[in-house]
Amino acid sequence: MTNKLVMATNNANKLREAREILSPLGIEVLSQREAGADCDPDENGSTFAENAIIKAKAVFEAVGLPTIADDSGLCVDALGGRPGVHSARYAPKGEECDKLLGEMMNVPDDKRGAAFRCTICYIDGEGHHEFTGACEGAIGHEQRGSNGFGYDPVFMVGDRTMAELSADEKNTISHRGAALRGLYRFLKERNGD
Ligand code: IMP
Repeated sequence: MTNKLVMATNNANKLREAREILSPLGIEVLSQREAGADCDPDENGSTFAENAIIKAKAVFEAVGLPTIADDSGLCVDALGGRPGVHSARYAPKGEECDKLLGEMMNVPDDKRGAAFRCTICYIDGEGHHEFTGACEGAIGHEQRGSNGFGYDPVFMVGDRTMAELSADEKNTISHRGAALRGLYRFLKERNGD
C-alpha cells in the first residue's frame, strides 16, 4: 500500500484530524495543495456522499494518488435538517453561528436537537469506498469556546460545546472521527495488518 494519501481539502482542521487518526498506519496525509492539485469542483450533489465523491474524484484525477474527501455538515432538527449539505454556504465564514442562533431564537430546549454528519470517500485506481459518521448533540443559546471551527461554538455535547473540547476529545466523538476510524479499519485490513 502506498504511504501517501491526499486529502481533497486545504482546511487545516480537517487535515489535522485525519493525520491524527491515520498516523498509526504510517500514512502521510497530504493536503490538496501539497499534492499539487488546484481544483475546486462544484459541490452540487444533494447528499454528503455525492459531494464527497465529486471532490475525491476531481483530486484523484488531477494527482493520480489515493485520495480521500470528506463532506460534512450540521443537520438541525428544528430546521428540517438544514443547513445540511449547504452548511459551508449557509452564511459568510465566521457568521454561521450567529445566523443559526438567530434562526433558533424561539426554539425551546427540547426541540434543539442536531447532528453533525460526515461522509468520507476513499478513491484509488481500483474504485471508491464510503465511510460515514454522525455526532448527536443540540444547539446551545450562545457561542462558547475557541477550539475547532464552523458551528463548533454552538454545538452542545452534554454541557460543553464542541469548541470547548480538546482536539483529542473532539476526535473521539466527532462525526469525522467516526468516519475516519471506518477508513482506518479499511486501510489497516487492506494493508494486511
Ligand atoms: P465541507 O467542507 O464542504 O464539508 O463543508 C462543511 C461545513 O460544515 C463546514 O464549512 C462547517 O461550516 C460545517 N462543519 C463540518 N464539520 C464541522 C465540524 O467538525 N465542526 C464545525 N462545523 C463543521
